[in-house]
Amino acid sequence: DSFDAMNLKENLLRGIFAYGFEKPSAIQQRGIVPFTKGLDVIQQAQSGTGKTATFCSGILQQLDYNVVECQSLVLAPTRELAQQIEKVMRALGDYLGVKVHACVGGTSVREDQRILSAGVHVVVGTPGRVFDMLRRQSLRSDYIKMFVLDEADEMLSRGFKDQIYDIFQLLPSKVQVGVFSATMPPEALEITRKFMNKPVRILV
Ligand code: AMP
Repeated sequence: DSFDAMNLKENLLRGIFAYGFEKPSAIQQRGIVPFTKGLDVIQQAQSGTGKTATFCSGILQQLDYNVVECQSLVLAPTRELAQQIEKVMRALGDYLGVKVHACVGGTSVREDQRILSAGVHVVVGTPGRVFDMLRRQSLRSDYIKMFVLDEADEMLSRGFKDQIYDIFQLLPSKVQVGVFSATMPPEALEITRKFMNKPVRILV
């Protein structure tokens, strides 16, 4: 039960250890490997369990760093959470050279467009701004192969359901999906049924 046993890239392990993590938390022990194998994963976990590093590691392991196109999209309910995820992703992926950008409301659209056109591997954002960037084609979806919904229940209770569905419609049909949610209300279950293919379910 160690990060070393997960078959992760050397430079991802370096990032994890440099960030100060020594041993994987329970959710990391169970959730990182299935995600790195490309499986759809539902993880029912509260915040504070280490879920952020679970999906960040799963994404960082699978990116093709030679291709500077957005290959992964992470949605979060609030600007603060999206920016916090951006920081963790950047820190864990430091030795891999990951390029991450947070697309959130209340910031300059022009600046988002500038950063996206310069090229990123991962976009983390709130549904409104992300949909706006996709609609304007400032964010291209062609290369997106991993889609994560963090705090799915919270996004639904904030009224983001339609925007999440609109975004999903624009993604390639084979996209890998990870859903993280503390609770599984009917609308969250509906998302898992509509977006996911034989998901692995992990309850922590
Ligand atoms: P999260 O559930 O992703 O919000 O993480 C909760 C807190 O636990 C954060 O402060 C993380 O930095 C910390 N954390 C996550 N995974 C580990 C780990 N394997 N070892 C030590 N701290 C961790």
